Amino acid sequence: MSDLLTTAEYKALAADLDLPRTAFIDGKYRAGHGAAFTTFNPATGLPLAEISGCDATDVDLAVSRAREAFDQGHWAKRAPSQRKEVLVRLCKLITRNRRELAVMESLDSGKPILDCETIDIPETIETLKWHAELIDKIYDQMAPAQEDAIAMILREPIGVVAAILPWNFPLLMMAWKIGPALAAGNSVIVKPAEQTSLTALRLAELAAEAGLPRGVLQVLPGDGPTVGAPLGLHMDVDMVSFTGSTETGRHFLRYAADSNLKKVVLECGGKNPCVVFDDAENLDAVASHVVNAAFWNMGENCSAASRLIVHHAVKEPLLERILARLRDWKTGDPLNPAHHLGALIDAEHCAKVASYLTGTALAGGTAEGPFVQPTIYEISPKDAKAIDEIFGPILSVLTVASNDEAIALANDTNYGLAASVFTANTRNAIRAARDIKAGTVTVNTYGEGSIATPFGGYKQSGFGGRENGIHAHDQFTEIKTIWIDLTDPADGDNVG
Ligand code: NAD
Repeated sequence: MSDLLTTAEYKALAADLDLPRTAFIDGKYRAGHGAAFTTFNPATGLPLAEISGCDATDVDLAVSRAREAFDQGHWAKRAPSQRKEVLVRLCKLITRNRRELAVMESLDSGKPILDCETIDIPETIETLKWHAELIDKIYDQMAPAQEDAIAMILREPIGVVAAILPWNFPLLMMAWKIGPALAAGNSVIVKPAEQTSLTALRLAELAAEAGLPRGVLQVLPGDGPTVGAPLGLHMDVDMVSFTGSTETGRHFLRYAADSNLKKVVLECGGKNPCVVFDDAENLDAVASHVVNAAFWNMGENCSAASRLIVHHAVKEPLLERILARLRDWKTGDPLNPAHHLGALIDAEHCAKVASYLTGTALAGGTAEGPFVQPTIYEISPKDAKAIDEIFGPILSVLTVASNDEAIALANDTNYGLAASVFTANTRNAIRAARDIKAGTVTVNTYGEGSIATPFGGYKQSGFGGRENGIHAHDQFTEIKTIWIDLTDPADGDNVG
């Protein structure tokens, strides 16, 4: 934290940034064939850069280069320890350029620089390093021996992987995918969200500088229908790893069905509950977790807590503490390191979030341009605010009369990404954690866990796999079994 600069220093860095403006294909920046588009600074609404967009021609080129790189095996067949070396070198380069990346990320996404410096960039480095260091330790296995045969079980890279990214954690979501995918030996084509292409492009450039062979990591800026769809439909893309909305995720399942049945893994939306039982202790700590869970990254967070389901016995003292804590959460210029909330991503998203600012708010309830105050409403479970993924800084409070009612309400959603339970009773905690249908349940805390633990969703929050931890390698590898016959020819054939 002491390492942070002043607003003026960040602004000086921002003015000096050399922003990438074209796709990164086959080891270098090159202009795409699609329409140019502008990437805006969400906080000012002013253009940041004109980016040369890609189209299906560029998708074909990138896929053929990715395939070539994969088949030549300069990356895929390199010893795991050598792949590790390159990825560790990339981490060093990110560390060396971390301030530039943090400012670029804040400018392009509206995120507070405080988060970029203390969360997004350090976690991007940690993710890449974790997978790099893992890869030479995941050994292939032998099956239990049989008298006349032996089996080897190999983990192989899938091939050409398309990584489709959202705008809310541009660099970190890229790291969650390319970390395990590259460590395993795949060739990866990244399609960043059209609102936030800059840091993905710069990261590809740094990866090339670290020694990643041409064609192994490429970045194609452009919108969903023009670049995402041709990747999803491409006959020579072996896998799509997607993070974004549930609605868009469905498209990728259709693309796969309509093309080569490529493997599809989806990380989608959430409507995550914070459940507070009547026996929750230390309400100051609970309040602090709830504020962080609901308002971190302006609520533009798939695992944001957007429903506080609280037993009536503790509601009043808890709300009092939440409102008090919220006074420290300032909203405004993302380059001011004192601000916890920056700007929402764009005008369309602001309009969507603002449409939920209805009724009497316990806190906030107002928006000024892209800056929405952290807002709290007390509502009934039938209110749209309790049902829709708003993806903004709005927390709904739902009061219940029993702990069982709290769990039932927590599960009363199409989503199942993350949940938190607050209780002093271990039995209640474990029962609740088991009963809640979500990929991650935290007890007496909030968060996604760590890079070492799997992350993903139940129900319409996810499909086909998990990110992070060793489980991410299941996503990006195929398992091959090789049987070897050991029968002595002298004993006759073993056919049949
Ligand atoms: P989005 O679904 O609008 O876009 C995601 C990506 O898909 C973008 O790159 C976009 O260009 C592309 N896309 C959009 N339409 C497409 C189409 N028709 N064909 C092909 N590609 C298309 O999501 P978003 O608004 O960028 O991100 C917010 C969503 O992401 C939220 O729902 C959030 O919950 C989710 N999210 C989930 C996780 C997770 O790990 N589960 C993490 C971050 C964000």
